[in-house]
Amino acid sequence: MRVVLVEPGQVLRKAVASLLEEGGHQVRAFGNSLDALACVKEDESVACVITSLEVQPICGLELCWSLRAFAGVARPLAVIAMSSGREGRNLGEVLDSGADDFISKPPGGVELHARLRVAERVLALQRQLIRDADTDHLTQLLSRRGFMTRARACVEALPPQGLLTALMVDIDSFKAINDRHGHETGDKVIRKVADVLKETGALAGRLGGEEFAVLMPGHGLGSAGVVADRLQKRCARLRIPGRRGPVPVTCSIGVSAWSAPDTVESLLKRADGALYAAKAGGRNQVMSVAGEILDRVS
Ligand code: GH3
Ligand code: MG
Ligand code: MG
Repeated sequence: MRVVLVEPGQVLRKAVASLLEEGGHQVRAFGNSLDALACVKEDESVACVITSLEVQPICGLELCWSLRAFAGVARPLAVIAMSSGREGRNLGEVLDSGADDFISKPPGGVELHARLRVAERVLALQRQLIRDADTDHLTQLLSRRGFMTRARACVEALPPQGLLTALMVDIDSFKAINDRHGHETGDKVIRKVADVLKETGALAGRLGGEEFAVLMPGHGLGSAGVVADRLQKRCARLRIPGRRGPVPVTCSIGVSAWSAPDTVESLLKRADGALYAAKAGGRNQVMSVAGEILDRVS
């Protein structure tokens, strides 16, 4: 596990760092608490912070609080406070400040490693929970939550002149497929369409029911339209056996391109408008939208 250690005393800092390394951990050791905080924010692989309470320029309690506020529910991060007990802090105050655990200073190797094993157990559970919440279990695509989180990060990372397009994909007359062939076949259709979306290698999620979204960084309307057109044709060629013969599957797709000051929500909303137009235009087709102008692709 990658551990950030914050301890003002050089001798103890070195001793604890050695103990951690002997336990197989990778250690970044700091005397300055703000440098440590910056390191945790910058390096996503840091999973644990062990901090002395008597650090500067922000004290250990404030560091615990800042780390907890930064990590929120999305970043699995264990925070362990370390104190000699002469500092007059009660354990309740330390834990209420955002620390998950407390260890006396100087820590013994056996106790330190045991506490880190506990932290690793809890972190593994948190990671599993996040994975579950971000995954759609029918298709193994991203769930709405997983898709939106990554899509927001994508928009944030977009360079000023960067290209980004969104596709909204909806299976046509899906209720009729369920009614005619049964819910299980309906599920199979959803999975097969999801497999087609996975082939693009783009960021794809199932937003709900029989509706999907795809995000394509680096693509403008032109090239995204080509991908969408290919998707639509691939779906129309799917041959899925149903209760009463092969199930006809088609999809309608709406495409929109990012432009400032778009958010993920506004980008998807425009793609949804284009999707609506594709449905109104007879389904099994792709519509793209540049500004307010809708255009039928091919
Ligand atoms: P349109 O072409 O306008 O999109 O019509 P539609 O029938 O596809 O859309 P509608 O919204 O009327 O129906 C969607 C149906 O999808 C209704 C719902 O019962 C079904 N559905 C939602 N989630 C699931 C699922 O996980 N599995 C299955 N089999 N059906 C689902
Ligand atoms: Mg539909
Ligand atoms: Mg729908």
